Amino acid sequence: MSTAHYELHGGVAVIRLDNPPVNGLGHALRQGIVNGIQQAEHDDKVSAIVVIGSETAFSGGADITEFGTPKMTAEPNLRTVINVVETSSKPVVAAIAGTCMGGGLELAMGCHFRVADPKAQVALPEVRLGLLPGAGGTQRLPRAIGIEGATNLIVSGQTVPAGMFMGSQLFDEFVQDGDLLAAATAFAENIVKKNNPLKRIRDMPVEHAKSEAFFMFARNMVGAIAKNYPAPLKCLDAVKASVEKPFDQGLEIERQLFAELMQTPESSALRHAFFADRATSKISDVPPDTSTREISKVGVIGAGTMGTGISINFLNAGIPVVLLETKQEALDRGLENIRKVYEGRVKKGKMTEDEANKRFALVRPTLSYEDFADVDLVIEAVFEDMGVKEQVFGKLDDVCKPGAILASNTSTLDLNRIAAATRRPEDVIGLHFFSPANVMKLLEVVRGEKTAKDVLATAMKLARKIKKTAVISGVCDGFIGNRMIGRYQTQALLMLEEGASPQQIDKAIETFGFVMGPLRMADLAGGDIGWAIRKRHYEEKPDMKRLVIADRLCEMGRFGQKTGAGFYRYEPGRRDALHDPEVDKVIEECREEAGITPRRISDKEIVERCVYALVNEGARILEEGIAQRASDIDMVYLTGYGFPLFRGGPMFYADQVGLINVMRAMEQFAKNPMADPGFWEPAPLLARLAGEGGTFN
Ligand code: NAD
Repeated sequence: MSTAHYELHGGVAVIRLDNPPVNGLGHALRQGIVNGIQQAEHDDKVSAIVVIGSETAFSGGADITEFGTPKMTAEPNLRTVINVVETSSKPVVAAIAGTCMGGGLELAMGCHFRVADPKAQVALPEVRLGLLPGAGGTQRLPRAIGIEGATNLIVSGQTVPAGMFMGSQLFDEFVQDGDLLAAATAFAENIVKKNNPLKRIRDMPVEHAKSEAFFMFARNMVGAIAKNYPAPLKCLDAVKASVEKPFDQGLEIERQLFAELMQTPESSALRHAFFADRATSKISDVPPDTSTREISKVGVIGAGTMGTGISINFLNAGIPVVLLETKQEALDRGLENIRKVYEGRVKKGKMTEDEANKRFALVRPTLSYEDFADVDLVIEAVFEDMGVKEQVFGKLDDVCKPGAILASNTSTLDLNRIAAATRRPEDVIGLHFFSPANVMKLLEVVRGEKTAKDVLATAMKLARKIKKTAVISGVCDGFIGNRMIGRYQTQALLMLEEGASPQQIDKAIETFGFVMGPLRMADLAGGDIGWAIRKRHYEEKPDMKRLVIADRLCEMGRFGQKTGAGFYRYEPGRRDALHDPEVDKVIEECREEAGITPRRISDKEIVERCVYALVNEGARILEEGIAQRASDIDMVYLTGYGFPLFRGGPMFYADQVGLINVMRAMEQFAKNPMADPGFWEPAPLLARLAGEGGTFN
């Protein structure tokens, strides 16, 4: 039960916020603050009030467990609480340590004075959920620190140390490493003794000699960066109101703008992503208190593209890595690549040379499996070949200590078969990193038939340590992400045959908001990968439609960036995708050979076919239990495939469009004489939900 405790320290009433972990301002806590202020006001022995949180949090803002529930806005809502605090007849001092964010900072600004640890973390992060601070933050902060500082903080949502605001009206006193409560109490007593007037931020002037010019400049800057997100400009409008309107009118404008933002699809998508991110770590049959295994030393097999990137994650987390290769030459090359990554960080000023050396020193190269005898986890990243992987896991089974976790980074192979190459399949798991593995946030944690629960729990905990977004996937060809992307790529390539150009397809998808269109992405990943998969599928399903243009380009050795040519051409050492007349010629020839009369394809059709192909396959993945929940699929796409964040992921997007509308469009696509038979067969889950008027999320 969240609450605020009321204590008397001589003539000072102390209201102690107590809603762990971050003192989220839930209904009970809000009521507790109001009760505390009123009790203090009615007690003649009390001359001042201190509001204090824990050592780690004054308050992190709204209580997210109340999001979307009536409790969130129930009285006393945060605006009421702040009003009660601000209009208190006795001085109220906020004592701030740890997190002081969002509503927490707004509450602090409603107090008459603020005493803080300079290391306290201050932010108004609402913009990151597509919102703005809605409890007076946009009106009080400019009065406390000026419009430039306030604009920066509110528009960026960035977290900064309280000490940065030394000398401003935001903080009245800093307490370095001392007893914060004692200091705040002494501060309050001193105010009373000196009979200092109450300092209400609302009554302070907002000063800026050239505010009009400033806002014009800021509008251009913010508008250019904000692109698909409406919140940053609304934040700016709200701050502007603090200059141009009296305080109460400014509050009214803030409230109005907040309500408008709350209704935007962008904010819905960002809030969805926020909760989706938190949900990924929950595994229905693995309770949160499941014991985990200690991981203090890691082995990595294969020092190629993935093995080196994977190693860097652990080095950065201070975990020693033993890196194994078959040949000295490959090992040297891998080490050199790791060193280069650190050199690059130092050059860019992102890391000191000392720090880089320390991290690099944690990797130990080896050619011998004996060096894996004491590792707690091994991640295999050798060639994508079942025979090689089985051999490697057989060896690991021989040399690794009991309880060591044996992981594979395979993208497509059957993890259960890999596990069967050992006598301990319960210790085997998939850890599917994305390239570049030291950069990409996504980690698919692949759960084999026999993977033990504590192995899963350990993987999820470790993922947090190396700062990855981990999503659980069952075993299937391509797991969640690549299985879906295959369907999306197929549609893009089919439209190439039917009449669209690579440029049009990529542009349409990029305008929708993807970081990169499907053909540029194929060129980046390497055309040979998709080609190998297609050839396997042609063999498995002889009646399957062939993607002749893509195949022809691969037959010509055009594998994308790495060969200097693919769907585009590339200048040596550059990544810009350039139009290539030779590709136009291939496209024309292939269409002619296949007897295709090209038709004009709309950008709308391009986006719908690509995205609904993702959605339909996502529905199958959900139904088969490969993904635990629709929002996990969204997280895979937001963190691993450049799906636009402001659209919330493919499944959320489909919910917004309306599943019945998705189904109807798919029915139309199926009627296209060039459609692959069966491709648009709706997943039973999608059909059912569309029929019921339901949603995935
Ligand atoms: P790579 O060819 O760059 O590296 C593979 C390395 O493994 C080579 O250095 C090779 O010498 C070494 N190797 C081969 N057999 C070995 C053995 N028996 N013992 C020790 N070392 C051995 O390949 P990569 O792109 O790093 O891919 C590795 C694995 O990661 C594959 O399973 C692949 O499917 C998977 N993967 C790749 C990507 C990607 O984008 N490249 C993404 C996710 C997963």
